[in-house]
Amino acid sequence: MSDNYVKVQLEQMKSLGEAGEKEGVDNEEQVPVSPPSADPPSITISSSDVSNTSITSRQRGKSRSKLVKDDKNSTGKSISDLSLHGSVVSAPAGKNLNRPGLERTLHIKGTGKTLQGKSENNGNYVTIQPSKNIQEARREEALKLTRKRRPVTVDTAKAKTSLEALKISIKQLKWKEFPLGRRAPCDIYWHGVSFHDNEHIVSGQVNKFPGMIEMLRKINLSRAMRTMQELFPDEYDFYPRSWILPEEYQQFSTQIRMVKEKDPTLNPTFIVKPDGGSQGDGIYLIRDPSELRVMAGSQAKQSVVQEYIHRPLLIDKLKFDIRLYVLIKSLEPLEIYIAKEGLTRFCTEPYQEPSQKNLTHVFMHLTNYSLNVHSGNFVHSDSQNTGSKRTLSSVLYRLAAKGVDIKRVWSDIIALVIKTSIAVVPELKVYYQAEIPPGKPGPTCFQILGFDILLMKNLKPVLLEVNSNPSMRIEHEQEMSPGVFEYVPSPVDEEVKVGVIRDTLRLMDPGLKKPAVSQTRPGGTERGEEIPMEAETPARSPDDGALPSLCLKQVYPKYTKQFNCLRLVERTAALFIRFLGVKGNMRLGPTAFRTFIRTCKLSNSNFTMASVDILYIDITRRWSGAAPDSREAGMGLQAFVEAFFHLAGRRFKSLPLKEQVFSLLELCEAQLDSQSTIEDRRSVSCSRALSRGVKTQTPGLTANSQLGSPAPLRRAASQDYRLHQKLRPRTLRANVEN
Ligand code: ADP
Repeated sequence: MSDNYVKVQLEQMKSLGEAGEKEGVDNEEQVPVSPPSADPPSITISSSDVSNTSITSRQRGKSRSKLVKDDKNSTGKSISDLSLHGSVVSAPAGKNLNRPGLERTLHIKGTGKTLQGKSENNGNYVTIQPSKNIQEARREEALKLTRKRRPVTVDTAKAKTSLEALKISIKQLKWKEFPLGRRAPCDIYWHGVSFHDNEHIVSGQVNKFPGMIEMLRKINLSRAMRTMQELFPDEYDFYPRSWILPEEYQQFSTQIRMVKEKDPTLNPTFIVKPDGGSQGDGIYLIRDPSELRVMAGSQAKQSVVQEYIHRPLLIDKLKFDIRLYVLIKSLEPLEIYIAKEGLTRFCTEPYQEPSQKNLTHVFMHLTNYSLNVHSGNFVHSDSQNTGSKRTLSSVLYRLAAKGVDIKRVWSDIIALVIKTSIAVVPELKVYYQAEIPPGKPGPTCFQILGFDILLMKNLKPVLLEVNSNPSMRIEHEQEMSPGVFEYVPSPVDEEVKVGVIRDTLRLMDPGLKKPAVSQTRPGGTERGEEIPMEAETPARSPDDGALPSLCLKQVYPKYTKQFNCLRLVERTAALFIRFLGVKGNMRLGPTAFRTFIRTCKLSNSNFTMASVDILYIDITRRWSGAAPDSREAGMGLQAFVEAFFHLAGRRFKSLPLKEQVFSLLELCEAQLDSQSTIEDRRSVSCSRALSRGVKTQTPGLTANSQLGSPAPLRRAASQDYRLHQKLRPRTLRANVEN
């Protein structure tokens, strides 16, 4: 790519990006809806998108030929057909987009192919239409590749309850399964629980991130969301107000007392959830702090108490929630995919707003499958659109039929997923660098998460929790005769979960050419890189021929422009990681904290090093009280973030918090940049003198590809942030909508 070409592309992107920002970026956000189908479903093709196609086990053999036929329809198009469905990557809608003579890029939807050429005055493409011969040559090349490629190997020894769905997926992909593991390394390791299910993996890819379980426990997630709520209250209003017990018991009871004193007619309800709990275990509703259940030592158990959403959207008079599968494909660059199909789980007792009488009715208030399955009213159904567990698309279809603006609902859900991921990524990066420090051999990671989302009566989605290990079981327990249970296939689960696992594997295929995503990092895109506006289908693997198109849709970096400005904590975490020093460490000692202050030149006569030490001791002591079981001493990321906010507040008193933090980040990063430049210069002159190429490495900016964060990109981050400041907070939602 010539420099000139890059320049033109960048300029175009800049002007278009700004135009796009104001007008919304994507008119093609497809909503996964599927109309009711005959029972049992065999192949589901959503009304809007063939990518929802999937097969149930019973009909698998029969459906094969149809799948192949469908695929032919989508891939056997001529280039001119395809270009009709293509989208202009560097030029979304806009007046100045069809300027004559400019290089343009045409992305062919569903193929991962990109055409480049010059546009005529009327904006039509006139050059570079691959001829039939070229197409044939490409096809042959792909075929040769298929013959040459060895099958991708998957270690399934630790897959646990996801094994059944995983086996089906591997079979569909014609990959090779190692059910007992093997001595030689595999390409992919599928773990049922955590990153550590297999020890000593030094290569390949693991389907779990280190630290994900810890990060998504209820207390940690609430803390991360609260930090984001402090910075961006309007953007993070989808997470219910939460208090952490026992440490915030006083705040909780004082706030509730004040609310009730202000308006005695108010009688809010709260839901109490034990920290490590799942499947509704130990959850209960209260209307007054005095109703909190205490442990033996008269302290409330480690839990989260949360505002109860008392007006959920009902279908058939029943409360339901959405289980959405989300793939975190990589941390650096951040890549997020959402499954177009999900599940909805229904309560089994008609809903009534909470009252003292019905607070204990779990089948009315809790949507957990594991609880409701024990209700006499639970309906197991082979159909996707009836019963107590249905597909998301069938529910959306039903809502659309009632006139609900499901496009808006879907785009709000996408925004919720991106924002939540942005909230948890900083801590994940700390775990990642501790587990696989720069320079140490290790696998790369990806992970499927289960987002539990409730729709309020006004259709606003609310995040309930994120599961690090969403159930991938495709059978359910059924009582065959009194007291005798058996696992029987569940077509609805299979429909959704096999698609998610299979397509996750397809995206992680080590033989795939990496799409040109690249180093998007907090706040920007790398020079010369394009933002892939239509990157939902990666470069196809040659074996993909007979498979339906992907059910996973890329939402990040697709929506980088709208959401990158929210990644301030991630930038703070990058500073934290840089000063951690010792490999494998997750906490900052007092000396490292002092070094950070000195290097970034944050002390002065008003804020002496003695005050720095006091600040360190103060905050660290409070946080060690908050996590008494933590064995490691020192300042963790959350404590560092608090210290950083405090420093930002001292330095930039008159600004709102997010601007204080932004300004301090700029200041620190500028200091570090100038230091790195000096170090680089020294190292160059040193290496010249020694005639040896030993280059100084800047801590934190080393070989680890999942954590890198070069300086020029940070400047782009700042530009994004400034641009965001000009926009009204609500635009973030509006932009994904269309
Ligand atoms: P668990 O991990 O035990 O399933 P959740 O946070 O998912 O815990 O809560 C269990 C169920 O309780 C949810 O599926 C939902 O039906 C209900 N629920 C949880 N939080 C709220 C809330 N803030 N408002 C209303 N209902 C809630």
